[in-house]
Amino acid sequence: MTTLNSFDTKVTVIGAGPGGLTAAYWLNTRYGITSSVHEASNVVGGISQTVNREGWRFDIGGHRFFTKVSIVEELWHEILPADEFLLRPRLSRIYYKSKFFDYPLKPLNALLGLGFFESIACVFSYLTTRVFKPSKESQLNFEGWVAARFGWRLYRTFFKTYTEKVWGIPASSIQADWAAQRIKNLNLVRAIINAFGIKRTKITSLIEEFEYPKFGPGQMWETCAEKINSAGSRITFNSAAQEIALQSNGEMAVTFSDGSSQTAQFLISTMPINTLVKIISNPKPPQEIVDAANLLKHRDFLTVALVVPLQYSFPDNWIYIHSPEVRLGRIQNFISWSPFMIPEPDKTCFGLEYFVNENDDLWSMTNADLIAFAAKELEILGLVPALEVVKGYVVRVPKAYPVYDQDYALSLDVLRSWLAAEFPNLYPVGRNGMHRYNNQDHSMMTAILAAENIATGSNHDLWKVNVEEEYHESASGEKGTGRSAPHFIRV
Ligand SMILES: Cc1cc2nc3c(=O)[nH]c(=O)nc-3n(C[C@H](O)[C@H](O)[C@H](O)COP(=O)(O)OP(=O)(O)OC[C@H]3O[C@@H](n4cnc5c(N)ncnc54)[C@H](O)[C@@H]3O)c2cc1C
Repeated sequence: MTTLNSFDTKVTVIGAGPGGLTAAYWLNTRYGITSSVHEASNVVGGISQTVNREGWRFDIGGHRFFTKVSIVEELWHEILPADEFLLRPRLSRIYYKSKFFDYPLKPLNALLGLGFFESIACVFSYLTTRVFKPSKESQLNFEGWVAARFGWRLYRTFFKTYTEKVWGIPASSIQADWAAQRIKNLNLVRAIINAFGIKRTKITSLIEEFEYPKFGPGQMWETCAEKINSAGSRITFNSAAQEIALQSNGEMAVTFSDGSSQTAQFLISTMPINTLVKIISNPKPPQEIVDAANLLKHRDFLTVALVVPLQYSFPDNWIYIHSPEVRLGRIQNFISWSPFMIPEPDKTCFGLEYFVNENDDLWSMTNADLIAFAAKELEILGLVPALEVVKGYVVRVPKAYPVYDQDYALSLDVLRSWLAAEFPNLYPVGRNGMHRYNNQDHSMMTAILAAENIATGSNHDLWKVNVEEEYHESASGEKGTGRSAPHFIRV
């Protein structure tokens, strides 16, 4: 084995989020293979980190631990002991016109909340849509897909505003893949049938409750990092991959922002796939590959964590803000995730989430102005008077969401094929690594399979991994795996 910067390894991992850490952990624990993990920031966990500011712990968006994939679930419990998990009840509602509506949407609750005349209009709109269906072509985008299933009026009330806040582009420009992934198999009739219990479909327990580490998802990844380190792998922080060059022997020379370099026989990358392609210096990507990389887009995200007196707390884990009069997209209530994250018993911490583009007006505001802005929005919504906000913290997250627009699928195919042909030992895994709007389980599963390919020479196709086949936000999804129940603390 070659000596590389006085550290023997044949595997280099880019990124210490769930994907990168899982790959390193799996190689270490299952095969005794050490790896060198390079992380651009100074923390582990990536988007699944838990931020700690003056003892207030909060997520980049609350992170539920749920999966249908038993191997992932077992791994979570292997890394963190069972008594470090909470089993949390899930409550999330939509806030619209000063009213709360259940989420996932329950048609009776929605129609009752909208009032008699609006409800009649929604049902009429749904029936009209059944007769004059949106064309097959328009159902390929989010707007047509949802309107075909719920009618135009319900679509405009419950889907359009929020979706456009999230993506910052018209809902008609978003591919239906996203809707299909998030709102499985639901339409108004099926939802009403479910609501009346006429056709009994089991509402999955994963929708009603979920696991959550006591101190947030960061606890999982901090513990995983400790285990990786003590098993002989190495995590280097502030070390962003900046250049990759294929050598004549098939190995890859990778240089990092901290001046270090590695020559990797195998490379596992969780950095955004389009940036990955652009840092390859040999072979130089042809212009059509650079063009495809430029067509893949991301939506950025920022969270303003506000500490407020406990009297303003609500039972929800999070609330979707559909009200168009504010820029706010969602509010997390971290005491509902875990009381262990809240250091002062008479307060809670809200995470006010804004979907933004890097360098837009919100992104560029000073932290102090953002905190004041977010506090004012809480007041406009009638949830907390701005003056009652005790203090706040801001976290900006570039490239939080891979965008599924009309260009993404083709561009991604082009990048995949080129990488596979030129770099057979480079495995893009994870969320931005594969430009996949995923949860931790998908990142972890693709990382495990990459590690298996490396360690055993097997030939898993990582692009075929689908951890969500049946379950997501669907009220009709059933959980398919007979997983064993670990011991939980119920708070
Ligand atoms: C608002 C929000 C809510 C979410 N909620 C949930 C949830 O409830 N449950 C769930 O399971 N999942 C949830 N997710 C998804 C989850 O965050 C991701 O699936 C997961 O973090 C992806 O892991 P990853 O390792 O693939 O990527 P990331 O978490 O993005 O980690 C990639 C890492 O690579 C590093 N990196 C990037 N470029 C370089 C470079 N050039 N060199 C070195 N390092 C680099 C980054 O700094 C980062 O640390 C949510 C995501 C968001 C945005």
